[in-house]
Amino acid sequence: MISEYNETDISVIKDIYAGQKTHYRDVGKTKASERIRKLKKFQKVILQFRKELREAMWKDYHKPAAEVDLTEIYPVLSEIRFAIKHLKTWMKPEQVGNPVTMIGSSSWIHYEPKGMCLIIAPWNYPMQLLFAPLVSAIAAGNTVILKPSEFNSHTVEVMKRIITETFDEKEIAMVEGGVEVATALLDMKFSHIFFTGAPGIGKIVMAAASKHLSSVTLELGGKSPTIIDETANISKVISRITWAKFVNAGQICIAPDYAIVHESKKEEFVQSMINQIKKHYGENAIESPDFLRIINTKHFLRLKSYIDNSVQQGAKVIYGGAMNEAENYIEPTLVDEVPIDSDLMKYEVFGPIFPIITYKNKEEVVDLINSKEKPLALYIYSQNKKNIKYFVENTSAGGTCINMSAVHVGNPHLPFGGVNNSGIGKSRGHYGFIEFTNERSMFKQKWPSAIEFMTPPYSSFKQKLIDWTLKYF
Ligand code: NAD
Repeated sequence: MISEYNETDISVIKDIYAGQKTHYRDVGKTKASERIRKLKKFQKVILQFRKELREAMWKDYHKPAAEVDLTEIYPVLSEIRFAIKHLKTWMKPEQVGNPVTMIGSSSWIHYEPKGMCLIIAPWNYPMQLLFAPLVSAIAAGNTVILKPSEFNSHTVEVMKRIITETFDEKEIAMVEGGVEVATALLDMKFSHIFFTGAPGIGKIVMAAASKHLSSVTLELGGKSPTIIDETANISKVISRITWAKFVNAGQICIAPDYAIVHESKKEEFVQSMINQIKKHYGENAIESPDFLRIINTKHFLRLKSYIDNSVQQGAKVIYGGAMNEAENYIEPTLVDEVPIDSDLMKYEVFGPIFPIITYKNKEEVVDLINSKEKPLALYIYSQNKKNIKYFVENTSAGGTCINMSAVHVGNPHLPFGGVNNSGIGKSRGHYGFIEFTNERSMFKQKWPSAIEFMTPPYSSFKQKLIDWTLKYF
């Protein structure tokens, strides 16, 4: 609905960068207590802006207040609380062992910040995906420039106020803009770039990072399958699948992208999902205060064209399909008999459209999944342990839930991220801290080192010592 957005002047960005450059070493030397103080302040300011965030996200894409609380504010607060609880342990140098050949020395890991970091975020969870990695970056002791998506102008305005009120620009600053600003930022030398977005843009980010050999975390997307096998307890799990597919109008990186349903369960699955959609959003979802809009016309038209293309190739819309372009509204839609080479099965859907594929034997399932890029998430609905094991062992994915969808992202004890095309690197909790940290190897020699007995000239005695080393140590 919004297409206007602010662009921070490149000269202003350069000034911010220069300011952080003079300051990042001081930030890096801060103790856990100082970082915890910052995180507590961040938490407090976010809560002060709860009302503004709810209003802004409603204006941006009709996001219900409850979902702003649950899927934007809470994940960031949870990330902050987890970091506060564990930061002292995470920062503590970690003593490690020594091989016998290194007797008389000690070794440990020193956790030092990477330095100057850049975080680029998408529009679908504008606050969660900008601020959650920021928590990890602050915990690890870095300076950060944040670049949110240009598509959530109201939310961006509130987030900017939160950042300005909480942090010194020399430590954490937020800049605004689209591709031009992102490109200018990527030209600058950062120690680490944390990017969340589409795989195609991820490649641009990685290529830019290679110029400075900056490390990267790429949180990308792709087609995340949902398998419903012949043993799935549909009535018990249908709300879990429906919720994960249509929350945020399907604009989630870990949304079930398509369903692969055993033929014996197909009818029950479809009917149960239709009933469940009606339970969540009523007979006419456009009237529901709980159903979102597509973020903008470009994405609305993209989704419309996927349906048109797939229907032209023989797919059948079996529920939903209503649209209102003026509102960027697309009804929760189920599409059956979708040809594998049509747009709905070729591209990540990222919207409220659920293609349904039917299968007879489980080999077909893994063949289909493995014919595509490794997904960010893979969901298995089954009561059969052997089937579950088979699906896990014969596929690869960033994360997997069994008899559940999407919630693995909310467990800070788990790493979150993709694999290859769906992402590189992990985030959240301790994994997020490590991603923004250089694990520096430290080695201290206390006694004479064994190597001193093996330096040139290599006498026959020294060669014997070398031979023993090869044989015994
Ligand atoms: P996007 O890649 O188009 O945009 C993401 C960010 O990149 C925005 O800030 C945008 O301004 C910037 N950008 C756009 N073009 C750029 C360029 N040429 N150079 C540098 N930066 C550029 O993604 P999107 O449409 O905002 O989000 C949708 C995608 O993000 C989906 O593929 C989805 O699966 C993925 N996603 C992944 C996660 C995850 O955690 N893995 C979370 C949310 C979304």
